Order: sequence, then structure tokens, then C-alpha cells
Amino acid sequence: MKFEDFGLSTAIMQALATKGYSVPTPIQHQAIPVAMRGEDLLGSAETGSGKTAAFAIPVLHNLTEKGNPSKGQGRRIRALVIAPTRELCSQILDSFFAYGANTPLKFTAIYGGVPQSGQERALRNGADVVVATPGRLMDLINQRIVDLGHIEILVLDEADRMLDMGFLPDIRKILSYIPKNRQTLFFSATMPRNVQILADTLLNNPARINVELPKGSTSERIEQSIFMVPQKDKGSFLVSYLGSESFNSAIVFTRTRHGADKVVMRLRRAKIYAEAIHGDKSQSARQRTLDGFRNRQVNVLVATDIAARGIDVDHISHVVNFDLPREADTYIHRIGRTARAGAKGKAVSFCDSSERSLLRAIEKLTNKRLPVVQPKFEFVPEAAPDKSEAPRSEPYRKVTPSRQVAAPRSSGSSSSFGSSGSAPGDFPRRGKNKSQKSKYNKFKSGGGSGNGGGSGNGGGGGHRSSAD
Ligand code: AMP
Repeated sequence: MKFEDFGLSTAIMQALATKGYSVPTPIQHQAIPVAMRGEDLLGSAETGSGKTAAFAIPVLHNLTEKGNPSKGQGRRIRALVIAPTRELCSQILDSFFAYGANTPLKFTAIYGGVPQSGQERALRNGADVVVATPGRLMDLINQRIVDLGHIEILVLDEADRMLDMGFLPDIRKILSYIPKNRQTLFFSATMPRNVQILADTLLNNPARINVELPKGSTSERIEQSIFMVPQKDKGSFLVSYLGSESFNSAIVFTRTRHGADKVVMRLRRAKIYAEAIHGDKSQSARQRTLDGFRNRQVNVLVATDIAARGIDVDHISHVVNFDLPREADTYIHRIGRTARAGAKGKAVSFCDSSERSLLRAIEKLTNKRLPVVQPKFEFVPEAAPDKSEAPRSEPYRKVTPSRQVAAPRSSGSSSSFGSSGSAPGDFPRRGKNKSQKSKYNKFKSGGGSGNGGGSGNGGGGGHRSSAD
């Protein structure tokens, strides 16, 4: 089946052609016709399955088919998408902009962590589709800034995560402001009992769609392994590990914000272009970093768990658990950042001996023994701060490199990533232009300069009306 077979408007078909989509993914194949008919839908699908387009396309279609009754400030919110995190909201908003670029509809997103004023302005100027996190939406409802009394279509995305994050009371309140006579599209990766109960209260005789990603479950496509690495050596070990792998983009998880910043510094010293994303960064800095990562201008994203929620980037080939997560199920969320959309991926964890109990908890939860492997690359441990460095602690042995360690392109040095690295002080500075960036080794297998094209899709223009 092709997109033409759905009977979508030319405006949407042109936008899909611009995106390069010709064949619908399985969830789109099943969900789009049902949703176009105005029926309720209960979709069980993972991120990476193409579920955003599976709801965005019929929402756009249905809204444009029914015409646009009011203009300017009289424009009413006709579709509401509720999603758990600002990052996910922002990605969903981007999808609406992309697929709805040729329609007369206006879109905006509202989420916390940024000043409210820009969002108020966008709402005052009118929006047909609003993508929102429950918390900020509830704030705006309480202040009577947002009116949900004319909603025709409601979408809940990643409902299981919203409930995990404690949003059920907010969601219930929000629902009380939305007309009952509406279409509801409900998506969740998993369907535990509390999610099913919520779905039952919201949906009216829904079509049930359950889509598995191709080639087995995500975890089957992820090669998982453990390196035993003393905490103090993890920074250098990471540099050596990344140098030995040919990777597209990597995400490194640390437990703390400070830890994330330290890892970024360490990687930059080795001329690997990394950026941190965590709660100490402003929303605009986080967005800039994410755009850079998505455009492949940033090679390694170093993140804390909270900040990484909702980051859905297809080309992440490697996930590194620099620190093991305290909660075992966080491990599953982390490694699920790779092997998207049927691809393969690697997830490695650096385990200090003090973290063995966390490792055991992960193995218990996943019911899988994770192989502890020896590095196949030369590794020089971090130099101790003083001269009398203690002998290297045990867990790993030096192995004759099976592969040449990929030293930073510009540096002539061979295998030692040890203490000195390159001169500190040549980190990229925010706001410096592209020529600056070219100093940083991209470590990409084939990608060349990527498809960056400047500053991503942020900024002004068009009909983007949210504050970002
Ligand atoms: P999602 O699950 O919505 O996050 O989508 C996963 C990825 O698949 C996104 O990068 C989409 O741009 C991409 N995608 C969605 N639908 C299609 C399609 N029909 N053909 C090709 N790529 C698609």
C-alpha cells in the first residue's frame, strides 16, 4: 500500500513527498484509514514505528477536510495532543509543521521549563493544533489562558510514560474540559492495567492496533555488553572505546549533571564533539543541543536520565551507560535509544566494582545475563593527579588491539588517549560558526558533512508559533 491509496489531500501528499515518505509503516498502514474515518483508536506501538505520522496525518486530514471555521484570534484549538515531555512535544510539533506545511492550519506547543509568555502569545494568535505536556497545560487552563471547549480530536501519546510520571490526575482534569463528543487516538508502548483502565474510560469502541517493530523486539537488535571499569578510569576508557568503534551517533548516560559536564570536557579534550543535556541547561540550550545532535553536528550527547526522556533520534548507533542506573528499568529506557525503526545498535555499560549490585538488578529485571567483555582496544588509564600513581586496578587486562584505535583525525598521536590529550582550551564555544566546528572529529563511518544545513529548523519564520 502507498500513501496515495489513503485519499489524502494534495497538500499532505506534497509534504510527505518532501519528507521522502512513499510507503506507510505498519502502524500508519493500519491507523491512518481508521483515524481518517473519525473512529477512536487504541494503538500499541513503540517510538520508532512511525506512530507520530500515524496520528498527525489523519489529524491534519480531518481538520482540513472539515474546513477552517475561524481565523486569527478567533481561531479555536481543534486538536490537542498530550505527550509526556517537552522534548517529545517539540518533536511532535516538528512533525505537524512538516506534514502540515502546505495546509492553512497553525500549530503550537506548550510545555514547562520555558517562560509562559511566548506560549500565551502563540495561543492568543490562534492555533488549530496544540501539543502539550499535562503540567503546563493544566497551569494555563487554571489561568484561563487556554480553552479546550472546541476540541474535535484528542491524541494521547506515550500514555504509559505519562502515567509512570504521575500525570494521571492532571490528565483526568484536562479531560474534564474537553467535549465528550470528540475523536480520541490513544497510543502507548505498553498496556499495563492502569493504562488499559484509562483507555477504557476515554475511548468509544476503538479500533485496536498492535504493531511490533520489524525484526524482533528492540532488545534483540541491541548488542549489550559490560566492561568492568574502575570509576576513576571511565572517562579515558570512554574515549578509547568510542575511538575503537565506528559509530554514527552515541548517547552517554551519566547519573549526575556534574558527571555529564565532566564527560563532555573529557571527550572534547580528545576532540570528540560532545554536548551535555541536563536539567541545569536552559530549555533553549537543550533544544539547540538536540537539534545539533539530530542534524549529526553533535556526535555524542551526554545526558542524565530525566533530560533524555523523550529524545527520539533514529541514528543513535551506540548507548553508553557511563554509570549504571540506580533503577533497573531505567536501563531498558536508556538502551531503547538505539536500534530504532528496525536498525541495530550497541549498548555498553561501564561497571565499577561498586556497581555490581546494580548490574545484578538489571540482569534480574531483563532476565538476561549480560556478557562482561574485555576491551579489544588499547587503553591507557587516567593519570593519577600526583606522580605516585597506584597500579592499575584489576578488572580489565590490556589486550593487543585488534583494531587501530581511531585517534582524533587531526592529531598525529597513535594509541594513547591518556592524560594529556590535546591542549585544553580548544572546546567549541556556543555561537562560534561552522569553521570552528570543523575542528572536531566526527568519527562518522561515512556521513561526511552530514545534512546539517546551519541552524536546524529552530528560530523564526514560517508559522512556528511556539517559543523555542
Ligand atoms: P516515530 O515513531 O513517529 O518517532 O517515527 C520514527 C521515524 O520514522 C521518524 O524519523 C520519522 O520521520 C520516520 N518515518 C515515519 N514514517 C515514515 C515513513 N512512512 N517512511 C519513512 N520514514 C518514516
